[in-house]
Amino acid sequence: TYVVLDNCIACKYTDCVEVCPVDCFYEGENMLVIHPDECIDCGVCEPECPADAIRPDTEPDMEKWVEFNRKYSELW
Ligand code: SF4
Repeated sequence: TYVVLDNCIACKYTDCVEVCPVDCFYEGENMLVIHPDECIDCGVCEPECPADAIRPDTEPDMEKWVEFNRKYSELW
C-alpha cells in the first residue's frame, strides 16, 4: 500500500485524489489518508503530490503511518 505522511497537512492540492483509479483517498482530520486495504499499489499518486507526502509502505518505519492512514480512513 501507499501511505500519506504529515507533509500533507495544509496542502491544498488534491491531484492525488483525482488520479487514484480506486478512489481510496479519504479526508483525515487535517490531511488526506489512503485506505491501506483499498490501495492497489499502482503508484500513480506519488509523483502527483506537490508536498512529497505519499510514500510506499516498503520504505523503512512506515508501519505507524499505515496504521494512521487506516485509522483515519475508517472514521467515516
Ligand atoms: Fe490510489 Fe494507486 Fe495511490 Fe494506491 S497507489 S492510493 S491505488 S493512486
